[in-house]
Amino acid sequence: MAEQNNNLVIAIDGHSSCGKSTAAKQLAKKLNYTYIDSGAMYRAVTLFSIQNNLVNGDVVDIDGLKNSIDNIKIHFTFDEENQRYLTWLNNVIVEDEIRTIEVSDKVSPVSKIGFVRSKLVKLQQDLGKTGGIVMDGRDIGTVVFPNADVKIFMTASVDVRAKRRFDELIAKGDKVSFNEVEKNIAKRDYIDQNREIAPLKQADDAIVIDNSFLTREEQLQKILNIVNN
Ligand code: C5P
Repeated sequence: MAEQNNNLVIAIDGHSSCGKSTAAKQLAKKLNYTYIDSGAMYRAVTLFSIQNNLVNGDVVDIDGLKNSIDNIKIHFTFDEENQRYLTWLNNVIVEDEIRTIEVSDKVSPVSKIGFVRSKLVKLQQDLGKTGGIVMDGRDIGTVVFPNADVKIFMTASVDVRAKRRFDELIAKGDKVSFNEVEKNIAKRDYIDQNREIAPLKQADDAIVIDNSFLTREEQLQKILNIVNN
């Protein structure tokens, strides 16, 4: 068997709730790489904006957020006991707070803003510069790491994605309707694909995986085959 390269940069982009992060975490574990959830960073900035009354509906107080952007500190740790990554916002763990439907609803309008993207792209590039990482998001293979060693673009039908997300939120005890979740996914797809800066799109050299009918194991195997090749 070929020797494993320990310094690859693996970019996994794709639509909302298509299981990118599950696949990326599984892959990172298998390869003994670091997993970086770029969406968690956009979610953390969104949570900060909500906490500081800088977002009303879909309208972001751009000047207010610009004035506070340098006060937003984000980092990650790995919780060995529960085997999960934790997102920190200004030294507070916000892993659960950033996954609510309220944050999901406001994250795409916040992610459209240029100075938010520049700050987070720089942080992502810094975290990935040593290699040995799997990063998932929307613009990892196109903007953050255009020279990534492996680029995967994942997708699944809106219906399948909404069902998975709905089940996940219900299992966590969130009170949401299927309709609300489906609408949120369609809205995020639209904003993420149509924004001016770094829109979600497949990199020319990305390999597409539609996982609508794949189990997690089948999906991981497909990705491992791509990485090994
Ligand atoms: O990956 P996740 O669904 O948690 O991402 C939340 C939102 O963050 C996306 O809908 C998108 O608006 C934004 N995002 C982004 N660029 C990334 C990762 C996420 O714009 N690289």
